[in-house]
Amino acid sequence: MPVILSVDVEDWAQSTLDTSLPIYPRAQRNTEHVLDLAAERGHTLTCFVLGRFADAFPDTVRRIAREGHEVASHGYGHVKIHEQRPEEFREDVRRSKAQLEDLIGAEVVGYRAPHFSLGKAGDSPLEILAEEGFRYDSSIFPSPTYRHGRADWPAHPVRVELPSGRSLVEFPAATLRLFGRVLPVAGGGYHRLLPWPLIRWAVSRSMAANQAFTLYCHPYEFDPDEFAHLPMELSWKLRLHQGLGRAGFEAKFRRLISTFDTATAASMMAREWPTHWLPGAAAGR
Ligand SMILES: [Zn+2]
Repeated sequence: MPVILSVDVEDWAQSTLDTSLPIYPRAQRNTEHVLDLAAERGHTLTCFVLGRFADAFPDTVRRIAREGHEVASHGYGHVKIHEQRPEEFREDVRRSKAQLEDLIGAEVVGYRAPHFSLGKAGDSPLEILAEEGFRYDSSIFPSPTYRHGRADWPAHPVRVELPSGRSLVEFPAATLRLFGRVLPVAGGGYHRLLPWPLIRWAVSRSMAANQAFTLYCHPYEFDPDEFAHLPMELSWKLRLHQGLGRAGFEAKFRRLISTFDTATAASMMAREWPTHWLPGAAAGR
């Protein structure tokens, strides 16, 4: 079984510090670098592209599609779902989907929420995503130790049956059940801090238990020098939390892609996944 290796294509400062900031050019450079690494070994990535990034660097989005990776939506503005009204959320994802489809000339079927924030927003955003034409979502972190995690959600991919009678596939971020706890092991800071043998073991073990493994990373994690080039002051605490492990991240990524096969989420979508009924879904059938 291949891993779904996903990249949230965005800029660190705009997505993490302040969503009103511009997208800095390093975001493009770092994204192109990740594409170069994937191309070296012929891997296919699932790229959740932020609308603000696509506005700034449309050629990079076209390159993602041209090189055989999947272009999916990370929404437009990187505002957490639970900080938007339902109609704002709908407008954000509709705008992002239309923009990306216009750029690449192909359908966009997948969505990932900023900060995996679907966990805090309940189930109703899934209905909006299905109504807007998305066929899978990858926005749930099924671990109580993650900020916006949902402990009640299955750790493996499921076909979600919605109250409206629509359905979509959910690819939750990978977790590892260990010592009675559900630990997040899918990427980001966890991969920056954990040693490679532990990551390899966690991926293998989680794949055996959960049938699939959805990993994620960000282009800025490959850039240990970023903070020195930003125009704003950053606290040492923030630098430590967000910068630790960046220097060794690329080496781990290289080992990851030399160890595991990859497939896009869209290509994995059609497989037979267990059904997960949302409350009210059965009545709608
Ligand atoms: Zn993001």
